[in-house]
Amino acid sequence: MSSAPRYWREIPYRYRLEASLCERCGSKFYPPRIICPNCKSREMKRIRLPKRGTLVSYSVVYFPPKGFELQTPYVVGLVEIDGVKVVGQITDVLPSELKIGMELEACFRKVRVNGKSGIIQYGIKFRKPEKRDADESYVPIGVR
Ligand SMILES: [Zn+2]
Repeated sequence: MSSAPRYWREIPYRYRLEASLCERCGSKFYPPRIICPNCKSREMKRIRLPKRGTLVSYSVVYFPPKGFELQTPYVVGLVEIDGVKVVGQITDVLPSELKIGMELEACFRKVRVNGKSGIIQYGIKFRKPEKRDADESYVPIGVR
């Protein structure tokens, strides 16, 4: 598929939970926007969202898009982080363990393998928070 270049362009927000903050009206957006959809301002500042958020909604996927077949069933959640809603797969959890409003944290995981090229794509997923240091970075060394 032709998604690899686009994928690499999108790395900062995929890897680091980068959002944009409108300096005029204070709205935040993820993925980041260049122009504020709220007030049309171009004074957008990149911010990094915190790692933890709360589960707003989720669904279990049994019939996945191409490239995700091996992972089924899997859970996709909508997680609110600092007022911004982020969609991502929830990993290492049974659907029965999920509760709306529970705390989740972003982690860095393999997202899919591109069938043709064999390129492994990494990105952010969510999991139940670990007990260890909450401030520990989820961006592995070497990824910038
Ligand atoms: Zn604005």
